[in-house]
Amino acid sequence: MRRAKIVATLGPALDDREKLRAAVEAGIDVVRLNFSHGDHDTHARRLEMVREVSVRLGRNVGSLADLQGPKIRLGMLPEEGVEVPTGSEVELWAGRETLDSYTSEGQAALPVVYEALARDVVPGSLVLIADGSLRLVVSRVDGDRVYGRVVAGGLAKSRKGVNLPGVQVSAPSLTDKDVEDLKMAVELGCDWIALSFVRRPDDVLDVRDRVHAMGGEAPIVSKLERPEAITNLQEIVAVSDAVMVARGDLGVEIGPERVPAIQKQIIDEANAEARPVITATEMLESMTNSPRPTRAEASDVANAVFDGTDALMLSGETAAGKFPVEAVRTMARIIEVAESSPHLVHPQPPPHSQATVGRVVARAAVQVAKDIGATAIVVYSISGSSIELVSKYRPEAPLLGLTPRETTRRRTALMWGTEAGLVPMKGAVTDLTAAAERVLVDGDWAQRGDRIVIVSGRPGGEGGTNRIMVHRVGDPVGE
Ligand code: PEP
Repeated sequence: MRRAKIVATLGPALDDREKLRAAVEAGIDVVRLNFSHGDHDTHARRLEMVREVSVRLGRNVGSLADLQGPKIRLGMLPEEGVEVPTGSEVELWAGRETLDSYTSEGQAALPVVYEALARDVVPGSLVLIADGSLRLVVSRVDGDRVYGRVVAGGLAKSRKGVNLPGVQVSAPSLTDKDVEDLKMAVELGCDWIALSFVRRPDDVLDVRDRVHAMGGEAPIVSKLERPEAITNLQEIVAVSDAVMVARGDLGVEIGPERVPAIQKQIIDEANAEARPVITATEMLESMTNSPRPTRAEASDVANAVFDGTDALMLSGETAAGKFPVEAVRTMARIIEVAESSPHLVHPQPPPHSQATVGRVVARAAVQVAKDIGATAIVVYSISGSSIELVSKYRPEAPLLGLTPRETTRRRTALMWGTEAGLVPMKGAVTDLTAAAERVLVDGDWAQRGDRIVIVSGRPGGEGGTNRIMVHRVGDPVGE
């Protein structure tokens, strides 16, 4: 049984129902709607198809709406692109979608869709285009125009990303487009909202307030990809519901050589704070065009598991690749083999300085299950937070989350090692025990006579989740 979860980005490669079905069967746990691409109708159609397919397959699949954030991009360029030679001077026009001419006094001119570009950079600032394949150093700024010396040239193409490492980007954390996309994500009932280019804790608090004001309740995943986010890591993780190691932009901003250590730092911090963490980008990149991964990619996926990640993400591999189903299957297999290896050492959240009853109970429940050799741990939770906490203590026994809420059930799809079932709102303890037994026996998780641990909240007790019960399947339960 695989414990780490798989997030797969939707796109044209999975628009075919049969392919999607095969990919869900192969192991997709959560789908990512990437709002950097595609219109609202397309996202709605894709999510509807995922929900239909997953219900039909009896698989619990969650959804994550990924907001583009203040991503700076080039505007539209001629179809053939614009050649930007090394050593030449280039002119960037701030806040432009297109230009009348893409040359100016014999030099290349490029539109950049970011109004404040000329205010944010200074002479000496580095500007990276297309993941850093084109690099220039700002020589001067004149009104809304930025002039730079090209230190690594190439062909500039429409809509390529622009990164400004070391520059305090003044753009708000949510653009007008993000606000519209957020409304759509809330309307669609997406289970998680991911926020790109988080810089400080307030970015997270602001988006959460907006989600609530829109009548939603989806938890927030902070995408860590800016140097400021690493500087403010502890504070950002503390206010986030989950985090993502967004290695694509992170690698451009801080240099690829620093990504491996920062990945470990982020995963450690998320585990210490008991927040789910997703490791993302280029995990099986070569499978965009090949049915098999490279050895380095297989190692990368396994090493993210060894680092203690809760989930791993596929991007272009499933959105636009030629082998989306194979990519999911390959990732699932690598995770399974890594998880059965003696190298796997589960990190445990350390005793917390402000240990809540929920944390103490979660930690103890995992220990009790281990000590009695329980067949399963069952956690009843309305919001899902107790299920998440138990998951973070990495139980050896399978973890079954029971909830009366469909949204909570879908949200658990991102949580390490968690399966989930729907049960009616808990009345008496006996009802919950009977429901747990039914789900466990029907799903072949446990048999009569097996010991299980049930974690729940007993009204009148302290904290929400405050009760650990050891039960033998089939035994009568009294109050
Ligand atoms: C990343 O940069 O690694 C990332 C996950 O974000 P996006 O795919 O939106 O660029």
